Amino acid sequence: MGNTVFSKILRKEIPADIVHEDELCIALRDINPQAPTHLLIIPRQEIAGIDGIEDADAALVGHLFVVARDLARKLGLEESGYRLVINTGADAGQTVFHLHVHLLGGRTLTWPPG
Ligand code: AMP
Repeated sequence: MGNTVFSKILRKEIPADIVHEDELCIALRDINPQAPTHLLIIPRQEIAGIDGIEDADAALVGHLFVVARDLARKLGLEESGYRLVINTGADAGQTVFHLHVHLLGGRTLTWPPG
């Protein structure tokens, strides 16, 4: 049983602003938003990060992107654009070791990231 904050949210042990739920994942509003829209798409399956993905998880990982696309469309971001980010490991600044896709939009995002 996972002990990260996202596992606790998935088990409904702590509250979250959930905007999407299905059999494979949930999506919620980031508690510390870095853009007007900042969602996290989180698989129910406990995978620590990109390096923890197994070949058999390919469909699940693809599903996270399909959900991200649909949420971006629902929020009207498909024209203006948005960014999907997956931080993996210490150098990338990952702080929660349960795989998640950030969906950031609603403002002009700079590149490269810091
Ligand atoms: P990362 O640095 O990629 O691991 O991102 C973790 C993200 O989770 C950060 O953007 C945090 O603001 C966010 N976060 C941490 N705790 C919560 C929470 N309880 N509810 C929503 N988002 C959270």
